[in-house]
Amino acid sequence: MSDMLIATPRRTKEIIGKHGFQFKKSLGQNFLIDNNILHKITAAAELDESKGALEIGPGIGALTERLAKEAGKVAAIEIDTRLLPILQEVLEPYPNVRVYHGDVLKYDLHQLWKEYFQGYEKVSVVANLPYYVTTPIIMKLLEEGLPFEHMVVMIQKEVAERMAAAPGTKDYGSLTVAVQYYCETSLVTIVPHTVFIPQPNVDSAVIRLTRRETPAVQVSDERFFFEVVQACFAQRRKTISNNLQSHFSGRMEKERVKELLQTAGIDPVRRGETLSLQEFARLTETLEQALAEGRS
Ligand code: SAM
Repeated sequence: MSDMLIATPRRTKEIIGKHGFQFKKSLGQNFLIDNNILHKITAAAELDESKGALEIGPGIGALTERLAKEAGKVAAIEIDTRLLPILQEVLEPYPNVRVYHGDVLKYDLHQLWKEYFQGYEKVSVVANLPYYVTTPIIMKLLEEGLPFEHMVVMIQKEVAERMAAAPGTKDYGSLTVAVQYYCETSLVTIVPHTVFIPQPNVDSAVIRLTRRETPAVQVSDERFFFEVVQACFAQRRKTISNNLQSHFSGRMEKERVKELLQTAGIDPVRRGETLSLQEFARLTETLEQALAEGRS
């Protein structure tokens, strides 16, 4: 086996050929073959030997190899059994890497974190994510409160734009609010199709999410906050008032919904996409109080 880095077209083809590996589209297998992109990804993660990195979906190890060189310790979770012997072979020179087999969506990541990264204060999630499950993976890591420093991930460009969107733009929606509630976002770079084998049929981007010490807004009931946010975006072309009236029908009179919007200082004819996180939080508190009063 040559000394060349894995993330080159030649070495990637060599590894795939040697093992007779066939790509599975259903697992979102698009492997990176460009070191400049890898450099941008790991630079955004601000790694050094004192830090750890958790990779999701190492594939044949292109990014894993780079992480092994830059971070103190690397854990990589791969679902596809066929990749395990390949990873074992190509990552053999890197004793600071451990590959775990499993589905990240079902994995007890807190347990892994506690055991494997013991003594590491800063650990980042760094991954070229399988596109068929981008949002569920990111939401799992956020909702479970995994204490990552940064999450630097390659995802579909459209999804990255939605996560980093500002209020009042077409990309702003419930995903934006959910991500920005937990994290500061920055778009690292847009990525052309040509840096993957095989090439995906969507555009890609690298986004960095940095966990906030405390959420962007204070709410007394997180679940209710996200319920209100979802309700406001249920039908994007409808006003907030209409969306909330449908959502709370049976629990609240239509007129009452309008009044409460006004109490929260929000014009009932606005649409969900124009509300800032602070406005969603204020609205949530107002609605919650009214529902509690109604019950008492
Ligand atoms: N990191 C490699 C690279 O950049 O070349 C491969 C990235 S490829 C886009 C996504 C990888 O995630 C594949 O290796 C795929 O088998 C793996 N994968 C897909 N679904 C997964 C899941 N639910 N849990 C863990 N790994 C998964």
